[in-house]
Amino acid sequence: MSDCLFCGIVAGDVPATIVSQTPRTVAFADINPQAPVHVLVVPRAHHANLAELIDSPEEDLLREVLAHATEVAQSCGVADGHRIVFNTGPEGGQTVEHVHAHVLGGRQMTWPPG
Ligand code: 5GP
Ligand code: ZN
Repeated sequence: MSDCLFCGIVAGDVPATIVSQTPRTVAFADINPQAPVHVLVVPRAHHANLAELIDSPEEDLLREVLAHATEVAQSCGVADGHRIVFNTGPEGGQTVEHVHAHVLGGRQMTWPPG
């Protein structure tokens, strides 16, 4: 989508610190990190949120996003303590409508999240 920030990052039109890439997913550093490790993992294809991805013909992409997020946790040294989060909708804290997994780690996570 032309007006989507994360599509812009995937396309290389918007600068970002790329952590790693796969054929169908991209991991990049969050611009406003909430933990020492804070990486976003997105599918290259635009889907607004988790429900739209699951309902799409390429719902297998979700597995690739999760596998990539887990690989990022390992490569960033937080395999033994991290959180993977999908915020959904305004009340869920979603501000960018291109589905993304937050990989957070490197500090003690609190529960419940705010
Ligand atoms: P959400 O609030 O939708 O769950 O997460 C969106 C995330 O994108 C936020 O954590 C925010 O800091 C991050 N973000 C917003 N704009 C940019 C940007 O231009 N570049 C990068 N790398 N991250 C961004
Ligand atoms: Zn997008």
